[in-house]
Amino acid sequence: MFEKIMIANRGEIAVRIIRTCKRLGIQTVAVYSEADARSLHVQEADEAVFVGKARSAESYLVPEKIIDAALKTGCQAIHPGYGFLSENARFCEKVCQSGMVFIGPPAAAIATLGDKIASKALALKSGVPVVPGHIGMLSGLEEAESIAEQIGFPVLLKPAAGGGGKGMRIVSCKEDMKPAFSACQEETRKAFGDPQLFIERYIANPRHIEIQILADRYGNVIHLGERECSIQRRYQKIIEETPSPAMDPSLRLKMGTMACSLAREAGYTNAGTVEFILDEDRNMYFLEMNTRLQVEHPVTELVTGLDLVELQLKIAYGEVLSIRQEDVSFNGSAIEARICAEDPSRNFLPATGMITRYASPRGGSIRVDSGIVAGSVVSVYYDSLLSKVISWGETREGARMTLINALNGYHVEGVITNVDFVNLILNHPAFAAGELSTRFIEQHFDNEKAKIPPSTERLSLMAIATTLVYHNRQKLVRDSLKPMAAHVGGFERPRSWYHYMVKGETDIFELRLQGNPDLRTWTIWANGNQYQVITPELEFYRRRIKLNINGQSQMFRLQFRGNFIWAAFCGITRVFEVYSPQEWELAQFMPKVQKRVLDNVLECPMPGLVVDIRVQKGDRIYRGQELVIVESMKMESGVASPCDGEVLEILIEKGQAVDTGNILMRFKH
Ligand code: ADP
Ligand code: ADP
Ligand code: MG
Repeated sequence: MFEKIMIANRGEIAVRIIRTCKRLGIQTVAVYSEADARSLHVQEADEAVFVGKARSAESYLVPEKIIDAALKTGCQAIHPGYGFLSENARFCEKVCQSGMVFIGPPAAAIATLGDKIASKALALKSGVPVVPGHIGMLSGLEEAESIAEQIGFPVLLKPAAGGGGKGMRIVSCKEDMKPAFSACQEETRKAFGDPQLFIERYIANPRHIEIQILADRYGNVIHLGERECSIQRRYQKIIEETPSPAMDPSLRLKMGTMACSLAREAGYTNAGTVEFILDEDRNMYFLEMNTRLQVEHPVTELVTGLDLVELQLKIAYGEVLSIRQEDVSFNGSAIEARICAEDPSRNFLPATGMITRYASPRGGSIRVDSGIVAGSVVSVYYDSLLSKVISWGETREGARMTLINALNGYHVEGVITNVDFVNLILNHPAFAAGELSTRFIEQHFDNEKAKIPPSTERLSLMAIATTLVYHNRQKLVRDSLKPMAAHVGGFERPRSWYHYMVKGETDIFELRLQGNPDLRTWTIWANGNQYQVITPELEFYRRRIKLNINGQSQMFRLQFRGNFIWAAFCGITRVFEVYSPQEWELAQFMPKVQKRVLDNVLECPMPGLVVDIRVQKGDRIYRGQELVIVESMKMESGVASPCDGEVLEILIEKGQAVDTGNILMRFKH
């Protein structure tokens, strides 16, 4: 086996390749740009070489710099990962000319398959059905119009050199062809430096299903089953799974066999993926072949038990494929969610910044492939993919639930991500039913919001988590003040139940908590429905909390600002406001947006302990009079009356802990 290889990539995929190398005892060399000096892949590799400026065109995309760095560090081979130089035939050629091994297919196969027109022609030759259209490049607008008439609208204009969903345009009628053609050509030239376009029929509501293949240098070609990647935005995948809910053994056999014969025809070696779309009548059409390791390869690994990077290394080293088609078996179900630095509420625009806090999910059936840690900087220079969360289950439903729970606890702070958006998709009834299509998101979502509202049950659980954490925080603070309270002669009357009002944007919840805090068990009524809840010990300061509700473990993410609490659960995000019944009653009269300036109540200006109350109910008071003394940080401060009037109600007692904004008294003018 190789002793030392270079990984000509960055981010999660570089880290993932290094992991397999470590297991196999292969030394690794990373490359990094100015923007990546502190990145995880640099820390994980045995060595790292600086290759230039932050812009990929000046670092990761310069073949000479990469090859030079590999030769200088004594590497025997280069793994290109995905993206960057992975599908660059010239790079592959140069690596081989320099005496190293390119961990991927031969340059000729990359060149043929990288051109979508050439690969479509090859597919036809190997007996693989292709999307109806014109196999050839378009000479201009006129040809586009006449071919579109022949195959029938809607049609899809596509860049021949395409990738990453860039440039494609749907054209639904003749009038739209002209603007679409020039827009597509323009974008294609910019993205690929090659303006060649071709045209295909636009298949309505298709599913994207692809076949993973492996081929060695001795003519052995096998497939590892399919992955369904229908959940896409901007023609880019965000959730992938295997097996596909649309698959049956005969279709798998047919697709698998076709993918293998295409690979054979192309003289392919190493790992590759043949992409198809399936129309509503279950007709399959070849889309393209990707000549590299795919982002979504982990789902295949979880159900086949194989390590694709290990197999890539072995094939590249010249080994014979040790597994035959009949040795490949599929166990259970796996789903992957891509976590990207992007804002779903702003049309998935990329987001940047520094990851200031990072807690990733853990668990037996969970795999996280991540390129980030706390302190990582997400810059504008590279792909927005930060990490991938992959789950396994005996059934699709099992894998789905495991992934939902994992995402519930995935906490990334400092950079906006799509973690709650992908979670919302996984929770959607149509996804649960396996009713997928590449138009899933536009069909079921308005921007980042699902068209169906969240269930009341889910919101109730969120209100419970929010209130419990709020309650326990308050209690811990009160407990810490007990010695001081005793000193001034106050004590808190033990109570057996607590009452809260919770406002969750559009919903209002009335919560009654009855509990034994020592046993950490609670009975909670939320709008009359009863729940049994077990809380963890001493966890109420965290941003994530795991509660056992009616026998099931549930993870919530929470962020506090006074009694305003942002919560995330199953893709639902909400700001909740928690009130005691007295505060709630007052809150009803507060102006909605304006800052409240109330002169009929006494508000607490700071956190502390009530050491003295200088008036009684019914007393006449005057503006500026000290009514309550609060002690905080070794300092006593008087709280003065905001008005002249009469004390209507005193809401506190001596020895009680109070916080900024708490209402201490009510007045009558
Ligand atoms: P890329 O190289 O960008 O991956 P693909 O040809 O693989 O381009 O297409 C990407 C996605 O675009 C597919 O997964 C599918 O959702 C959509 N797509 C491509 N071709 C068609 C088509 N003819 N009809 C409908 N959707 C298509
Ligand atoms: P987890 O590992 O479960 O995600 P965190 O690491 O987020 O938990 O919480 C631990 C630390 O974060 C503690 O030091 C705590 O003080 C701090 N912390 C938690 N929530 C907040 C918050 N809302 N505001 C400020 N600091 C917080
Ligand atoms: Mg594709």
